[in-house]
Amino acid sequence: MTYQEMLAAAQSKLNPKEYGKYFSAGGASAVLEGGNGKYYAGVNLDLACGLGFCAERNAASTMVTDGETVVRRIVCVNSEGELMTPCGSCREFLLLLSPENAKTEFLVGLDPVRTMTIGQLMPLPWTAFKQEQ
Ligand SMILES: [Zn+2]
Repeated sequence: MTYQEMLAAAQSKLNPKEYGKYFSAGGASAVLEGGNGKYYAGVNLDLACGLGFCAERNAASTMVTDGETVVRRIVCVNSEGELMTPCGSCREFLLLLSPENAKTEFLVGLDPVRTMTIGQLMPLPWTAFKQEQ
């Protein structure tokens, strides 16, 4: 898939919906390309008491269920279908799945195509520090 196709796929998964007093979902979406070349989609899940998780982690969890931990590329969109970057929790989550995910590219612009890597946004992950004793 091209980045344009990944964006269209992510936008097609948007489906903001209230599932009850304590649960809503589908207001953000992500599509990622795993190291296995397969594509995975996910939407955010917002639940009461701070539970739930972002679209990126939803998509990545499905990828891990499929036995893959490396993410090559990722496209995330907000409820308006506009590009957004993975939040800090998702950046950390992806880095912990595999150190190779420092090279994961995510789309930040389409005209022209512009990408950044998780490593650019997380240059000093906590796992890089060794405690002196
Ligand atoms: Zn997130």
